[in-house]
Amino acid sequence: MKIVRISVFGLTLPLQRPYELQGGRLRFEQLESTLVRLDTDEGVSGWGEACPWGSTYLPAFPRGIRAGLEELAPGLLGQDPRRTDVVNTVMDTALPGHPYVKSAIDIACWDILGKATGLPVCDLLGGRRPGDVTIQSSIPTDDPPEMLRTIERYHARGYTIHSAKVGSGVAADIERIEYLAERMPAGSSLTIDANRAWIPDQAIRVMRATEAVDAYFEQPCETYEECLQVRRSTRQPILLDEIIHTYGDLVRAHHDQACEGIGLKPNRVGGLTKARRIRDFCVQVGLRLNIEDTGGTALADTAAVHLAQATPARYRRGTWFCHEMINVDPIIGGARNLGGVTRAPGTPGLGAEPDPATLGDPMLVIG
Ligand code: MG
Repeated sequence: MKIVRISVFGLTLPLQRPYELQGGRLRFEQLESTLVRLDTDEGVSGWGEACPWGSTYLPAFPRGIRAGLEELAPGLLGQDPRRTDVVNTVMDTALPGHPYVKSAIDIACWDILGKATGLPVCDLLGGRRPGDVTIQSSIPTDDPPEMLRTIERYHARGYTIHSAKVGSGVAADIERIEYLAERMPAGSSLTIDANRAWIPDQAIRVMRATEAVDAYFEQPCETYEECLQVRRSTRQPILLDEIIHTYGDLVRAHHDQACEGIGLKPNRVGGLTKARRIRDFCVQVGLRLNIEDTGGTALADTAAVHLAQATPARYRRGTWFCHEMINVDPIIGGARNLGGVTRAPGTPGLGAEPDPATLGDPMLVIG
């Protein structure tokens, strides 16, 4: 089987509510997603999606994906998409780094492998594990009562894990955390996610003042070294997210006992092939995982759910559904909110495809 054509589609995803990233980063109202279709000489096609969470969240931006795909695509023609490790080697040779450019191609290859073998992607990633996958919310920074109202809205839809974004100053964050912790819906779990907005001094003061709160603290600071300093001066469980880009980053974090878990996003690490290796290491050494993507439609969400579904339940924490925060739904099928939990589709491949009528013409076709 050979890849004979690569089609790239751009899609604007309006957010239901504007989203603000703390730390002076941009407020944004829509996402720009890129969908990729790989066609093969045997008539099987696969889909993948890459959608950064705006341009200020990670070293990734929508036009970078499209330029990178233009660079990569010619070298992928003729490759067998079922050989996912080989395809990744080809991409890493043609364009070192830039993992976010490669994830849509990689995911589309897994979709094809599933369709070609008659298996859902979760079964190719190690096998469907028992139990549903829990969905977690993403609560933008705001004044505490407004954040609580947002949590209550998600709670009404079945959500039991809430990721509250903080990072607007020590006193305000302490107040925010205490306010939310006292009023969380019964049975809910709280993550305090600074998204790198604190410097170590701020993180340490906030975390020391809120030690009685049962919560995970996620990605307190910008760099790994800063996070490690916070780690060594505090006692709460820590999740690392934006700074784990490679397998080597994870090995180092484990060696330093820097965290109890990570946020694993296929788009950040380069797709399902590399995310699976990171997942395997986490399971081997006892780190917990939030497995979700950086953004996008139900297509990107479903790809992440397949990996989560193939991860033993005790290691997985939550998955975030970007598609529940946008105003369009161009995807047929896919993993959906079943009252706060979800399940990977059982059909071959991802079990999620765009409705062609919603996509329009491709912005780029190679092959
Ligand atoms: Mg995070």
